[in-house]
Amino acid sequence: MTSAEGSDAPSGSSVEIRGVTLREVRSVIPAGCYVRSRRRAIALLAFDVALYGIAIVGVLRSPPLAALGFGVLAGFAVAFLFVWGHDACHGALFESRHLSEVLGTAAMLPSLQMYRLWAFGHNKVHHGFTSLSSVDWICRPMSPDEYGAASLWRRLVYRLERHPATCGLHYLLRVWWPGMVTFRPDPRARRTRGFRLSQLGMLFYLSTFSIVTYRTGGWVAVVAAVVLPFVVFTYLIAFFVYLHHTHPDIPFFGKRSEWSATVGQLCCSTVVRCSRPVEWLTHNIFVHTPHHVDSRIPFYNLHEAHQGLQRTYGHLITQYRFRWSTVRSIFARCQLYDFDRHTWHTFAQQRRSVDRVQSRSAITRR
Ligand SMILES: [Zn+2]
Repeated sequence: MTSAEGSDAPSGSSVEIRGVTLREVRSVIPAGCYVRSRRRAIALLAFDVALYGIAIVGVLRSPPLAALGFGVLAGFAVAFLFVWGHDACHGALFESRHLSEVLGTAAMLPSLQMYRLWAFGHNKVHHGFTSLSSVDWICRPMSPDEYGAASLWRRLVYRLERHPATCGLHYLLRVWWPGMVTFRPDPRARRTRGFRLSQLGMLFYLSTFSIVTYRTGGWVAVVAAVVLPFVVFTYLIAFFVYLHHTHPDIPFFGKRSEWSATVGQLCCSTVVRCSRPVEWLTHNIFVHTPHHVDSRIPFYNLHEAHQGLQRTYGHLITQYRFRWSTVRSIFARCQLYDFDRHTWHTFAQQRRSVDRVQSRSAITRR
């Protein structure tokens, strides 16, 4: 695939694959990857719940500083729980939709996510139209022109959304708040009642849990058990999702005619290899391409599915080993995206081209 800002994407590879159906791509995944194990799913959920429980007990029984430390640990546990719930929400863990919804809802509540709304925004919109930016808004970069025309405030917020230390803002502002908390579905839509129940369920959980923690440990407990885990989770999920779909080799699409479901799933997601303990704790969420090719594959089979895909389509998959230097380089290079020329630009390049245009027009006026 292409690399470096200023390259000419969509690469030949994404054009090459445009006419291939997802069904054809899925056919190279071994059948065993689809076998579900209820025992494995429940065991990993039990681990996440236990870790979260230990962290919350730590918050409630420790002096303030240690309580905040346990709050950070709770944030990690909340993120692991959420990833588990995300798989349940795809129907990857259980055949029963009812069981998936009950356990998936429970796994998502500590992160203050709403199962039905998540299912709509993530399963239908994000997975249905991955990186087709007119529909899927996840990690959508601004074009240099959009950035140049934006207000100072909008530019500042955008820059924070695309910084490795503050990218949690993207998830908060583009997904959680508009896509869940304030989401108002079309009243004629069939799912309206389910959306409302999800919102009310989260509100009930949040208020009850906040009252209980306040009565047990005062405001410090509320901050450490409710606020801090949510902040840590929001950061982690935004960071994960950014790395799943942003890389100098990965294009975004503005035109439907240049995009196809296969391009979106195979060429617009990544496989980021981490250490074994990290992959185990994060339920293989960084082995993201096979998850996008077929979200019915349980997370514990994603490595095997990836090997299957790699044999035929390895040249189309963007994969690398997690290193902070690589992460910093991706954030530094993937700042603005020209949807027509399919090139990545930095803020500095955008500034320089504006300066050039301004000095040229000043010369012409003289
Ligand atoms: Zn997914």
